[in-house]
Amino acid sequence: MSRFWSPVVSSLTPYVAGEQVVLPDLVKLNTNENPYGPSPQALAAIREAATDVLRLYPDPTALRLRTAIARSHGVEPDQVFVGNGSDEVLAHSFAALLKHDAPLLFPDVTYSFYPSWSRLYGITFREVPVDEGLQVRVADFRQPCGAIILPNPNAPTGSALPLQDIEALLHDHPDQPVVIDEAYVDFGGTSAVPLVARHPNLLVVQTFSKSRSLAGLRVGFAIGQRPLIEALERMRDSFNSYPLDRLAIAGAVAAWEDRGWFETQRDRVIASRERLAGALRALGFDVLPSAANFLFARHATISGEALAAGLRARSILVRRFARPPIQDHLRISIGTDAECDRLVAGLAELVDPPA
Ligand code: PMP
Repeated sequence: MSRFWSPVVSSLTPYVAGEQVVLPDLVKLNTNENPYGPSPQALAAIREAATDVLRLYPDPTALRLRTAIARSHGVEPDQVFVGNGSDEVLAHSFAALLKHDAPLLFPDVTYSFYPSWSRLYGITFREVPVDEGLQVRVADFRQPCGAIILPNPNAPTGSALPLQDIEALLHDHPDQPVVIDEAYVDFGGTSAVPLVARHPNLLVVQTFSKSRSLAGLRVGFAIGQRPLIEALERMRDSFNSYPLDRLAIAGAVAAWEDRGWFETQRDRVIASRERLAGALRALGFDVLPSAANFLFARHATISGEALAAGLRARSILVRRFARPPIQDHLRISIGTDAECDRLVAGLAELVDPPA
């Protein structure tokens, strides 16, 4: 607390991302990164871009990247907005599209940044509880509101809604912006991008951090009809006239175009996820079906706190959220099979301690 702070700063609770600690032989399954490296073509493109040309500002429109994304999604480049990770794209969406007199709706539970951005931008919000199975029920969103945001698949549960549910939401709220955060969609969800042509109120946000394994490059994007994209561009122009740096543009274009690498690594992550889900169930865990690159699981008898601490003592990091109704769940990012095996071995000792 400082006497120099504005009241907004005092009201903010800093986001605690997964621990970034260095432990011997660390297995890091706490921040939903991709265990496999980015496309070698992306790395080559970044190296090639690292020349004397870095003395020049980047393209303020990032047109190459927007064109590449637009082409494969069947939209025009001016329907694509890019930013430094989908977090920046989402932050601009909150400020530009989600602030209205009526409350913004999002699920409880969901991505923990949503309440933070709401507070930062002075947005009134109402959290719509998930059901006992931690599933989002779109029927519960059928209430007066100013706008809606939800991740699909949801975080941290990994549960995906079918496209009919998203369409129902859009039909129920034709005059409200609806933002679908598809950070994890490539691992088994269904993208709402094909609905953009018919729904002027829909904005779909995606990222290069997960399925393209480029969390460190910070690239995300949104697709929508032009008025929504223009709102985001206006917001960005007032803060940062360069959405992405030269290295990020070069790397993201190459990663986007290397479809083969993307599909192979994605399929490996999905196969490891299903393998890990089976191993966890065999240890007595209740595992939610996941369409993401993580699992959300709770043990029948041992608390989430004890499990997370026991794993940490074994240099294995997972994510735990210390709040009801999910205080006993662990969110486990999918690592390599070897990393998942280490996790299962660690959990086996905790669940069934040697005498
Ligand atoms: N949306 C959701 C639901 C997430 O879990 C994350 C990752 N923490 C993001 C958006 C942001 O990812 P990035 O900024 O790396 O694109």
